[in-house]
Amino acid sequence: MSDQWSALRVLIVDDDVFQRSVVSKLLQLLGISQLGAEGDGYAAEARLAEGWDLVILDLNMPEMDGIEFLNILASLDEKPALILFSGEDQRLLEVAEDLARDLGVNVVGAISKPIDRDKITSLLDRVEIKTAEIAQVFQVQDELSEAEIREGIGAGALRLVYQPKVDALSLDLIGAEALLRWETPDGRKLGPGAVIPVAERSDLMQALTRAVFSKAMSQLSDWQRAGHRWKVSCNFSITDLMQPEVVADLERTISVAQVPAELVILEVTESKIAEDVSSVLSALTRLRLKGFGISIDDFGTGFSSMEQLRKFPFTELKIDRAFVAGAQEKPSARAIFESSVNLAKLLGISSVAEGAEDAQDLALCRELGVDLIQGYYIAKPMAPEEFLAWALNRGH
Ligand code: C2E
Ligand code: MG
Ligand code: MG
Repeated sequence: MSDQWSALRVLIVDDDVFQRSVVSKLLQLLGISQLGAEGDGYAAEARLAEGWDLVILDLNMPEMDGIEFLNILASLDEKPALILFSGEDQRLLEVAEDLARDLGVNVVGAISKPIDRDKITSLLDRVEIKTAEIAQVFQVQDELSEAEIREGIGAGALRLVYQPKVDALSLDLIGAEALLRWETPDGRKLGPGAVIPVAERSDLMQALTRAVFSKAMSQLSDWQRAGHRWKVSCNFSITDLMQPEVVADLERTISVAQVPAELVILEVTESKIAEDVSSVLSALTRLRLKGFGISIDDFGTGFSSMEQLRKFPFTELKIDRAFVAGAQEKPSARAIFESSVNLAKLLGISSVAEGAEDAQDLALCRELGVDLIQGYYIAKPMAPEEFLAWALNRGH
């Protein structure tokens, strides 16, 4: 028996005595001894101040139902992780899971009854991931001011971390996505959410993207000189692509860094493409002609039409993690995932699954024939030195 989860404090909320005892026994077998169990939402609410790490919640309870309880969890300052549990059909469970997420609850996943050991252990593995993610979100909410960004760009506040993209079958390293991080003068480390929305609202986006892109290209240049053929993906916002000089700018940057366009992928988020089709289309087409790869990011979450997908010169379709992480257990997410992969195949472009978080996610990617994967199961985004050490130590 492992003691991997022994420190977890878990509260089970289910009106069914039998289910409560099955779940407690199972958790005890997994080494969890700090357990609480309540038969209705009111009793459970009274115990929330005890500081649980994880709540396992039955959706169908006669008095306070699971959805009401979700609202209570959402109002807490320190939110425990949550696993939803129900005998209802999968689809309803998925809807409730999304609702919990929208409410800001730290939801790890959902299990349909009967619960079994494999299901619960795969979700317990995720508790840690989710906790790290929430810590990130808290930092992200803290937006910088325009002045701080303007000064920071010149003063070296910008950091890039790199997350591997690997071949789904061989796990060979194919490339990395450059993701923005920001370090304030007082040492706080912030995520893209603290910087990008502000830059988008002001006129700073262009300066920021230029700084990100040239940093990423100089990294690519270092890797290339060291003999690696890894590609580098960079995120572009639609405002960047609307600038008349964007094509010349990017060409200049790669020529200064002496890297070929063939190793560079521009990621563009689907939901924003619709805003200005013609100038963006012409910039992307010119960049494609010059050899850059073009990726449609967060696919499945936006509103772009099939027609746009046909019209734009994409070389890669990147499926949003909402349809990848835990998709094995979520029929509607899986359906969107599967049809996106098939669409990429039919269009003859490569598919990338974002947010593969565990062995099950990887297995599904392989079953569906995804080309590349990127996700915490492979590696989190890493600083350049760490990325290099990771890449060299794994033998792929
Ligand atoms: P994105 O381009 O879709 O990037 C993927 C995000 O998913 C990254 O978050 C990454 O850390 C996260 N992620 C990767 N694998 C997993 C996983 O297995 N599980 C989970 N839960 N998350 C995973 P990050 O770095 O916070 O970036 C968020 C978004 O910010 C990016 O989403 C992108 O839209 C934007 N962004 C980041 N850097 C830049 C940039 O330089 N320029 C622009 N315009 N946008 C950027
Ligand atoms: Mg991206
Ligand atoms: Mg994405």
